[in-house]
Amino acid sequence: MRYSGLEVLRQGLLGNKAWPPMWRSPSPKPSYDAVIIGGGGHGLATAYYLARNHGITNVAVLEKGVLGQGNIGRNTTIVRANYLLPGNSEFYSHSLKLWEGLEAELNYNVMHSQRGIINLCHSDGQRDAFARRGNAMINQGDDAILLDRKGVRDLLPYLDFENTRFPIYGGLYHPRGGTARHDAVAWGYARAADRLGVDLIQNCEVTGFLIENGVVAGVETSRGTIRAPKVGMVVAGRSGQLAERAGLRLPIESHVLQAFVTEGLKPVLDHVVTYGRGHFYISQSDKGGLVFGGDLDFYASYAQRGNLPMAEHVMEAAMTLMPMIGKARVLRSWGGIMDMTADGSPIIDRSPINGLYVNAGWCYGGFKAVPASGWCMAHLMATDTPHEVAARYRLDRFATGHMLDEEASGSQHNLH
Ligand SMILES: Cc1cc2nc3c(=O)[nH]c(=O)nc-3n(C[C@H](O)[C@H](O)[C@H](O)COP(=O)(O)OP(=O)(O)OC[C@H]3O[C@@H](n4cnc5c(N)ncnc54)[C@H](O)[C@@H]3O)c2cc1C
Repeated sequence: MRYSGLEVLRQGLLGNKAWPPMWRSPSPKPSYDAVIIGGGGHGLATAYYLARNHGITNVAVLEKGVLGQGNIGRNTTIVRANYLLPGNSEFYSHSLKLWEGLEAELNYNVMHSQRGIINLCHSDGQRDAFARRGNAMINQGDDAILLDRKGVRDLLPYLDFENTRFPIYGGLYHPRGGTARHDAVAWGYARAADRLGVDLIQNCEVTGFLIENGVVAGVETSRGTIRAPKVGMVVAGRSGQLAERAGLRLPIESHVLQAFVTEGLKPVLDHVVTYGRGHFYISQSDKGGLVFGGDLDFYASYAQRGNLPMAEHVMEAAMTLMPMIGKARVLRSWGGIMDMTADGSPIIDRSPINGLYVNAGWCYGGFKAVPASGWCMAHLMATDTPHEVAARYRLDRFATGHMLDEEASGSQHNLH
């Protein structure tokens, strides 16, 4: 069924009882042309673009739980293309262009909202760095406007400009940045992939790999052996653990990142605002909740919930920047497992085992990457060559030293 306004009307008149399921629930077949492990945003997008761009439709996505309950449904939904370094810049630029046509492409409302992102700066040095980043964004073909203090005040009058610990000097405004509804992105890709013939197999955990003479031949799962000449490992926070089952050691540590949401409020915040100096960022969801977060909890963990010291730190930063937030009540907090690389940039590459491909290391920024990551991973799996916008996301850069250290934080996973 194609979704449309008329269909909503028709189904409404039928009591909303005739909507078909969004995807089938097939049993796994003994073999496929390609298997994707992980039904998060990146795995589902990979499967969709394998079918859509390369005509490879005999594909299974194997998900150990249910679709959309990993980080794709836990993130704070910021979508942006404001990167500095060659390698990242063209990749995220490509992703943002895909976002801009995504709803029409998938025939699904992912609530993509280009409300603009403002990164605040609090020193001359930070302003210079933002000017450089803004120029890199414009050279890449994206948009950036350097704001002075008055420019920020005109857009964000509710911030504390007078008493704050780190006075606001200005900001970098990225009007095409914004948000989208996170789980709708998983559902949209899932439905579209299913329509092209991809089998989405839930409650199917991959427990091992079939490797014959150094070449992948399939996977062992909680629902039996599934053979495939191409296997894509797209499991985000579980990448290190799963790779170990293939005998690989990835340059990844898993760390927890928390997020918070308040009760629903009338519209007060039109943009996404980030406050790097205080480790805080915020936006308002379409339901009215203020959605915000800060830094990693800073130690390695596979827990999907965080701890109080970081919660306290985030609340303090919120109050410093935006005292009015103290009147809102926090409804929920949660955590997700971040697959942190040593340079903060991802990996989309072949592994040393022929036929086994790695898509990992998205850190805390992989939501906005979903369309381009799926696009490039599908390209890699179909053609065995990296896509030009993901050519620097090589696995061996950690051995050769060709790091993509966007944050200039050095080689510590927890600092990116
Ligand atoms: C609190 C928080 C805030 C964030 N904010 C942002 C943001 O604002 N903007 C942004 O761009 N990014 C953000 N991120 C990061 C982003 O969510 C992740 O980088 C991205 O979602 C990871 O890729 P994914 O969607 O494929 O992961 P997931 O949804 O986690 O998918 C991986 C899937 O693999 C499955 N899996 C694992 N092991 C196995 C196995 N053995 N067999 C089968 N299946 C398996 C898991 O169950 C899971 O469903 C945030 C993350 C968090 C937690």
